[in-house]
Amino acid sequence: MYDIIVVGGRCAGASVALLAARAGLSVLVLERAAMPSDTVSTHLVHQPGAALLADWGVLDAVAASGCPPILRSGYRVGDIRLEGSARPFKGQQAAYAPRRNVLDGVLVDAAIAAGVEYRDQATVTGLLTEDGRVHGVRFRTPKGGVQTEECRLLVGADGMRSSVARFTGAAMASEDPTLTCVYYSYWAGLHDRFELFEAPGRFAGLVPTHDGRSVVSVYFPQSEFETVRRDSRRIYVENVAQLVPELADATVDDERFGKLYAIGDQRNFFRQGHGAGWVLIGDAWHHKDSITARGISDAFLQSDLFASTVLPKLPDPVELDAALATYDVLRGQELVESYRNTLSVAKLDLQEERLRLLRHVAADPALVQDYFTVVSGGLPVGEFYSAELLAEALN
Ligand SMILES: Cc1cc2nc3c(=O)[nH]c(=O)nc-3n(C[C@H](O)[C@H](O)[C@H](O)COP(=O)(O)OP(=O)(O)OC[C@H]3O[C@@H](n4cnc5c(N)ncnc54)[C@H](O)[C@@H]3O)c2cc1C
Repeated sequence: MYDIIVVGGRCAGASVALLAARAGLSVLVLERAAMPSDTVSTHLVHQPGAALLADWGVLDAVAASGCPPILRSGYRVGDIRLEGSARPFKGQQAAYAPRRNVLDGVLVDAAIAAGVEYRDQATVTGLLTEDGRVHGVRFRTPKGGVQTEECRLLVGADGMRSSVARFTGAAMASEDPTLTCVYYSYWAGLHDRFELFEAPGRFAGLVPTHDGRSVVSVYFPQSEFETVRRDSRRIYVENVAQLVPELADATVDDERFGKLYAIGDQRNFFRQGHGAGWVLIGDAWHHKDSITARGISDAFLQSDLFASTVLPKLPDPVELDAALATYDVLRGQELVESYRNTLSVAKLDLQEERLRLLRHVAADPALVQDYFTVVSGGLPVGEFYSAELLAEALN
């Protein structure tokens, strides 16, 4: 019997397993993929996420992997240009955008070093339950056999299409329509610049990652997914050329970029977070459009909160259930505002009022710093867009 079994071993699963093992618990992770491996992502870990990696003692390994620190930010809309830096978050100035085989690999290595039993190529296919309480899992081994393992608490960290959510019947607590789709590729020669670009119906980002490459992503309204898909390389590059002035000469067979990745399934939801003997963490519990690049940092925040709120109560099932309820309330309070903000950005609806506001912000370096701190998740949106700022900018 393990204290905890975690299903899914990437940024949510590996980080929660690491913290549980460091708290002295016995932990088994079951991960379907062969690890370390890449997964769909534009990689950005904002300052609050990087600060947690630093707290856990693993940020140095990410930095040592050759991933460039992101210290300056840019934002362009038409003729408006913001240039500056976010304020440090708990002393953490740099953001990073590590490839997921690196980031997830660093977390898996740290988890194993802390005593976690990590089994990859192991796919969970069902749950063990007794009197309505989950107490273990059934899973397929790499050689095709079927095994079971038991635990006090099952953590479903198995992503947006969570099997644990399906097996437990976790209901959707709230759900919003899908708003965007995104196309991205890795480009050479953009010199570690981090910059975001907005235009009516479009949003783009340059995010520096390993090997001198940058992720260049273009967001389109969800309604255009099928149209873009029919001629994706041409439409992607045309939009890159229109949105990013330095890439205005880009062509379809440009050798600066490689394979094009397309993601249409950008769901927005919160699921029921826990039940008797189980809890969902990371994208399994809450998923939102990737346009604000918050999923990884939010998964870390959930793991950290789980460690302080739930782990100490694990020995007693009654206290554990109460702690899981508290945990759900707390993480909901932490994440609901950034969820609302993400939906608002994902509407890709550039209004005249927003342009006036950005023009006002661009003229004041202190406001520019605040703006980038909001983008990083280090300052609540509501604190920045005060009645005073809106009155000054819009009157
Ligand atoms: C296009 C795109 C770009 C993004 N860009 C960013 C970004 O720049 N910054 C950011 O912060 N976030 C970004 N995100 C969001 C981010 O990728 C997710 O929020 C993050 O990966 C969630 O981590 P997770 O561990 O919860 O789930 P996942 O990373 O999805 O990991 C879940 C794991 O569970 C495993 N699994 C699933 N089912 C089973 C099973 N039955 N048995 C065993 N294992 C199983 C899977 O193999 C997988 O490895 C992006 C997302 C998309 C789609």
